[in-house]
Amino acid sequence: MPHIDLYSDTRTRPTPAMRRAIAEAEVGDEQAGLDPTVNALNERVAALLGTEAAVFLPSGTMCNEIAIAIHCRPGDEVISHRFSHVLSYEGGGPSHLAGASTWGIDGANGMFTAAELEAAIRPPNRYLPRSRLVVVEQTSNTGGGRVWPLAEIEAIAAVTRRHGLALHMDGARLMNAVVASGIPAATWAAPFDSSWIDFSKGLGAPIGACLAGSAAFIHEAWRLKQRWGGAMRQAGIVAAAALYALDHHVDRLAEDHANAKRLAERLADVDGIEIDPTGVDTNLVYFHVRKPGWDAARLTEAAAADGVVFGSFGPSRCRMVTHLDVTTQDCDTAAAVVRRLLGA
Ligand SMILES: *Cc1c(COP(=O)(O)O)cnc(C)c1O
Repeated sequence: MPHIDLYSDTRTRPTPAMRRAIAEAEVGDEQAGLDPTVNALNERVAALLGTEAAVFLPSGTMCNEIAIAIHCRPGDEVISHRFSHVLSYEGGGPSHLAGASTWGIDGANGMFTAAELEAAIRPPNRYLPRSRLVVVEQTSNTGGGRVWPLAEIEAIAAVTRRHGLALHMDGARLMNAVVASGIPAATWAAPFDSSWIDFSKGLGAPIGACLAGSAAFIHEAWRLKQRWGGAMRQAGIVAAAALYALDHHVDRLAEDHANAKRLAERLADVDGIEIDPTGVDTNLVYFHVRKPGWDAARLTEAAAADGVVFGSFGPSRCRMVTHLDVTTQDCDTAAAVVRRLLGA
């Protein structure tokens, strides 16, 4: 039986070469700024995103929550897509950690337009929360791994500037957008006040993310990192994996995208599966099960019993994610298993 794990690109394991980089990492006390590998990673990410500074954090969630807490005062409002990670998958973090209220825009494919944003911004009025921060998720996760058009982001940035709002990028999969679009990370990050990339998604490192912004912003981020227990010791052990990933696992994301497209095309041929392969920009493949007697839960359970693991998101919606540990052959096998199950 195969064992193919398409649940998420978080399921990647460190490769033997990445483990060697981990073993050989020079380390020091990160909390005191003395870990040379972490310092090198922060400089590398600041250069990559074109910012003055960056700070290594244990997770992407902490990047988002620290950024929100810096940009917002209690009672301020965070505007994002209603199915964005910050609004839907961080346990209510913005309200608990920043005291911020939230507003979700309901745009297509996990994205919204500058006009939709403008309509959501509150007028100054003592009854209303104060709109303060806009969060854009690049690529959109539950929106289907779509790459936001650069022109739309620039239009959104113009709206936020006009209204005096801050703009933050959840760049968990920014490098997928970079590879898919050919547009450099610094160009994507330029319109934002803060942004971050995750190493534990498609880049294949075990742990960590880097939050980037101005020197003053990162100074504040360090205060919250310390307060919330995110300051570490010999964190070069994990930063080495992140540096290795930036050196060796960025260009290869193109393989994941090609595999995702191929998987989507195979699935589109299956009777009982609804998917538009032209909507697959990167490595996330969402589809609907449309067959009497079947739903997402039944299909994921039956496929897992046949060695093909993927997720269900709602009654009919499923997600398969391609990554470093999934081959083209694995994608063909996964599609064949779904076809066999639904044909039975
Ligand atoms: C995974 C993810 C996060 C959170 O990152 P972690 O490193 O898992 O905390 C945030 N935003 C998006 C879009 C994600 O996919």
